[in-house]
Amino acid sequence: MATVTYKQKCMRCKTNYVMSTWRDKYPVCFDCQKNELAQEIADPEMKKFFDIPFSFYEKSNFLRDIKIKYLRFGSLTEKQIEAFKNTVAKFREEYEEPVEEKPKKKKKTSSLT
Ligand SMILES: [Zn+2]
Repeated sequence: MATVTYKQKCMRCKTNYVMSTWRDKYPVCFDCQKNELAQEIADPEMKKFFDIPFSFYEKSNFLRDIKIKYLRFGSLTEKQIEAFKNTVAKFREEYEEPVEEKPKKKKKTSSLT
């Protein structure tokens, strides 16, 4: 079943429209989220945790949500941390070029002549 979405003005800037569902009590547009995401994180461990390519945040509503939750409340549950890690791992597989190139196995070229 499809979730009904409707256009609503961003609660933050009250300029941009956001597609939201009835569950979104506080719809915020991507521009406003971006500003929020750019905030400095004091905890070095969490800073490292959230240090992923920004394009991942652009692609994933979930990753943005987790980071914003952390910025707002200062902590995350273990479940949220796990889910975040899993999502990032998936994104890395999908979008990132492997840094180390595995040595290519030499293909035997069989000469048919
Ligand atoms: Zn906004």
